[in-house]
Amino acid sequence: MIDNNKYELVVGLEVHAQLMTNSKLFCSDNTDFGASPNTQVSPVSLAHPGTLPVLNKAAIDLAVKLGIALHCDIEHYNYFARKNYFYPDLPKGYQISQHTAPICKNGYVKIQTQLGSNQIQLNRIHIEEDAGKSIHDLDENYTCIDLNRAGVPLVEIVTEPVIHSSEEAFSFLTELRKTLRWLEVCDGNMEEGSMRCDANISIRIKGDKKLGKRVEVKNLNSIRNVKRAIDIEFERLIKITEDNKEIIQETRSYDADKNITFSLRSKEDAEDYRYFPEPDLPPFVIDETYISQIKASLPELPESLVLKFQEKYHLSEYDSMSVCNEKQDVAYFEKLVEQTSHYKAVANWMLGPLKYYCNENNISLNEFPLAINQICELIDLVETKQVSFSNASGKVLSHLLNNPDSKPKEVAKSLGLIQENNEGLLLLWVEEVISAMPEKVKEYKSGKKGLIGMFAGEVKKKSKGAADMQQVNQLLTQKLNS
Ligand code: ADP
Ligand code: MG
Repeated sequence: MIDNNKYELVVGLEVHAQLMTNSKLFCSDNTDFGASPNTQVSPVSLAHPGTLPVLNKAAIDLAVKLGIALHCDIEHYNYFARKNYFYPDLPKGYQISQHTAPICKNGYVKIQTQLGSNQIQLNRIHIEEDAGKSIHDLDENYTCIDLNRAGVPLVEIVTEPVIHSSEEAFSFLTELRKTLRWLEVCDGNMEEGSMRCDANISIRIKGDKKLGKRVEVKNLNSIRNVKRAIDIEFERLIKITEDNKEIIQETRSYDADKNITFSLRSKEDAEDYRYFPEPDLPPFVIDETYISQIKASLPELPESLVLKFQEKYHLSEYDSMSVCNEKQDVAYFEKLVEQTSHYKAVANWMLGPLKYYCNENNISLNEFPLAINQICELIDLVETKQVSFSNASGKVLSHLLNNPDSKPKEVAKSLGLIQENNEGLLLLWVEEVISAMPEKVKEYKSGKKGLIGMFAGEVKKKSKGAADMQQVNQLLTQKLNS
């Protein structure tokens, strides 16, 4: 039996995020995803002799934007270095990277897990160019190479080794991706490879300070897979240690179909990249004026919006966080609350029936087929107790979706779903039911509280299904307990 309580998991994540610039980091080639192979490749991307890199300012803007949002220190004096290695998808034979001098240092990402909120400390964010793509499974005899991606700008976001559970890693990546999208720095699409994550994983005896030997897992193409790979490695490293075997520092790959990791290469002899400053690019200096301009251009971030919505619309922290998950949702919420003041109900409808429909139909909230005023009318019908929530979100909503030009109240009427909520009338029915069943009342009073459902059912019958059952239950409880 493996004793997980004896060991502490230690994880550091390296995330590559493709910056949403129109052109590449050092030339004007297009960066669009999905173009035919090798169609976005100028002589610079192909590393023809005599070509020279020219820095794309838009990439710097985005990296600084991200750095400010993640509470980093922004480096003023910056330069690029060459990271030398040979690989067929790297035409120059070196990658131009800031590895040795990152543009952003420190900073953190605020996360939320079952244990509460926490901050994951960042080590750095640096800018670098992407390599091309090697495709090994297209041809039987050859590896195919697509250089469209070569030279596309990336930031690498590196955490300190301070993540201690796969849930924390999951939350970190979710929050990071939210920020990347919110700032329009990166589209965060892990399947298309515009956000990629490597997980460095080690274990140590709880209480130890020294880091253990780590493995690095690559090819994690979803946040869920990062979580799964960490869980697998945690178990595997414990088992090796418990078997008195030695953990080898290595690079592993994750196979999502089999849900296993396997060794790619050993890291025993660290590669020598022979870094040196890129001679073809002058250093670039960032001044305070530029940093404050970028700061001023930042949109309001989810962190502060969540607090604002809790105050302004009296939402719970959970609801507020859910509404503020995506920029589009916030805009949609704000449109709805212009037309109804039932804020809590707006959040419930948005996160419940509306989101459900959108997910089922693979559309965004903006494309929801009903007009804002129709949705608000529907919400108000429920809040003024004219229609029950279950009827409104069920029958009325689906009728409206099939007949988007009709009016919610008329639909509810035509379907016979307007509730009776005249208190006098409800009370009359309640009293009739109670006086017709003295035996049951006695049983109820002697402790069979479950009978309340039976009484309620009788009232419902009397009203031909029209009674506002929430009110009926209140009245029944009052009468029976008096
Ligand atoms: P490299 O560039 O060789 O991959 P770094 O020292 O820059 O190495 O670290 C890369 C990532 O690995 C960082 O996120 C760091 O926090 C993490 N890391 C380093 N050592 C360990 C360890 N022993 N256990 C877990 N994570 C680690
Ligand atoms: Mg690494």
